[in-house]
Amino acid sequence: MNKQDDHHHGVDPNSPEVRTEALEDLLVEKGLIDRGRVDALIERFEHDLGPMIGARLVAKSWLEPQFRKSLLENADRALEEENIKGAEIEHVEVKANEPGVHNVVVCTLCSCYPWALLGLPPSWYKSPEYRSRVVREPRKVLQEMGLSLDAETEIRVWDSSSETRFLVLPERPEGTEQLGLEELAQLVTRDSMIGVAKAKVS
Ligand code: FE
Repeated sequence: MNKQDDHHHGVDPNSPEVRTEALEDLLVEKGLIDRGRVDALIERFEHDLGPMIGARLVAKSWLEPQFRKSLLENADRALEEENIKGAEIEHVEVKANEPGVHNVVVCTLCSCYPWALLGLPPSWYKSPEYRSRVVREPRKVLQEMGLSLDAETEIRVWDSSSETRFLVLPERPEGTEQLGLEELAQLVTRDSMIGVAKAKVS
């Protein structure tokens, strides 16, 4: 398949999104499933299960400098070594936040997203408003989403495509020196790996 056409997966009748929606409609119509339960399941995958793969990678990189280095230098190899496989992560790049630099991810053309690391993309990620505005006025959009960055912090916006998906490596919150991998992973939200929030001690 042509790579450029492939990017516009929203209109491809063979795309997983279109096929899944058609299947859901059919099952609801036949009375086999209840749409509310599907929504609840998707919600759980979106918020809890999906992003935990990415969250554990982030936590591990906070604990192991060597892993962090390999994740930033060659995420594909690092994921292969972690035996992480799945949809939409053929080529991933990881961008680390650091003092003075904040990264945020968008797909300006559609909704490319590292599913196997983060689960399903949130609806706002797919909205035309986020996709157009975060490029033009990232500081303002982040502020509206609850993340205020000072004027000295450089914001780098990464535009995903079918060739490259991005994951933000948030900074490790202060006061977490005693925490282990699973506890640290709990602090890493989906939004912090898209770059619209920080990882923080709740
Ligand atoms: Fe896309």
